Amino acid sequence: MPRPSSPCYHSIMKHDPSLTAIEPGVSSRRDTPRIGASPNMGVYIHIPFCRSKCGYCDFNSFSGISQLIPEYVDALTREIELRSEGARQRVSTIYLGGGTPSLLTPHQITGILDACRAHFAVDPDAETSIEANPGSITPEWLRAIRLAGVDRISMGFQSIDDEELRLLGRTHTARQAVDAYTMARDASFWNVNIDLIYGLPGQSLARWQKMLEEAISLSPDHFSLYPLTLEETTPLCHAVEAGAVPAPDPDVAADMYTWAEERLGAAGYAHYELSNWAWPGKACRHNLTYWRNLPYLGMGAGAHSSIGDYRLANMSLPADYISSLRAGRLPREPNEEISRAGRLSETAILGLRLQEGIDLNELQDRFGLDAAKVYRPEIEEVTRLGLVEQDGRRLRLTARGRLLGNEVFLRFLPKGGSARPEGDS
Ligand code: SF4
Repeated sequence: MPRPSSPCYHSIMKHDPSLTAIEPGVSSRRDTPRIGASPNMGVYIHIPFCRSKCGYCDFNSFSGISQLIPEYVDALTREIELRSEGARQRVSTIYLGGGTPSLLTPHQITGILDACRAHFAVDPDAETSIEANPGSITPEWLRAIRLAGVDRISMGFQSIDDEELRLLGRTHTARQAVDAYTMARDASFWNVNIDLIYGLPGQSLARWQKMLEEAISLSPDHFSLYPLTLEETTPLCHAVEAGAVPAPDPDVAADMYTWAEERLGAAGYAHYELSNWAWPGKACRHNLTYWRNLPYLGMGAGAHSSIGDYRLANMSLPADYISSLRAGRLPREPNEEISRAGRLSETAILGLRLQEGIDLNELQDRFGLDAAKVYRPEIEEVTRLGLVEQDGRRLRLTARGRLLGNEVFLRFLPKGGSARPEGDS
């Protein structure tokens, strides 16, 4: 069996949607792009605090520094004000991710959302999401953040099996995960996502099937299913290298993915992105902003932004981030300017993750480049390999392509880093 495509959970999917591993056509600049020139956009707020570090995690998250949370929230509200540039830019989605945003009090979350509404023109029906760890929420907390305007909650179950949760270094139990889901429904959350990880060391297909059936029986509105990625610096990776834990089996992971696709489809979920399924109308609008390569503004330690031709990154360490804002300075790293060819490449790669695929006419309108000409040999090759299908001017991954997505994405990198690649029209 082929290996399932490995969506970069950190860099593309959730916490940091920039294409750091691909780096298409970038150059560094210090001047700050003006967000006032962007159409309506998504806002991402990063909360980098966790109770303890999970064994597989290399996100920009930190344990043992929760005493910094009040200063960090003050710094965030300052960054929101500075980044807005007084432009009252229209915002259609807000996403509080982490780390563990559910470590913040309702008062702190309300303060952050109020700052967004004070400095941006937040749509009245803006999707407002928060990530929550099942072990850190209560009915009171859920009711209070619902009143503050949070209308979508993403629950980091990762597993509903205590043995697997221990292997991952999670601090919650399977019982707590299911109870947290019930609490969210009782607190009037009508848009709930469950995150699960598959392809764990020693995990059998039957065990995965049993767990996914249990999750489906809860009827969440949305599922995010990610294959375990062994990140080099993590304790779980070290344990596998030392032989203390069996290496994940990519063939079994591919079977798990294929089975989940069929089962979730039969249960009525639309498979709208490689790793994401939703009831009709419940696709995550914020994450669609990333996959459609539309503008987003990331705030908080280590957050990334995509504004026009620029990709911006904030300082990663919470203490540095706080110090910078306390001194009245934006906590930014040098900007990256992306060439037209780079933006075409980014948009094609991200868009191919979506079930809807990419519309070559739309790409030509956006970038003045005809991807059908720029990538003609590559498109012919991946079509011949059965990885991509073409319907008029629309390209999308086939079922086989969804298992081997990276084989397709690599072919859509910019050619020679040129701003005007071969076939530029
Ligand atoms: S809760 Fe999430 S961000 Fe925090 S350590 Fe675990 S996986 Fe990483």
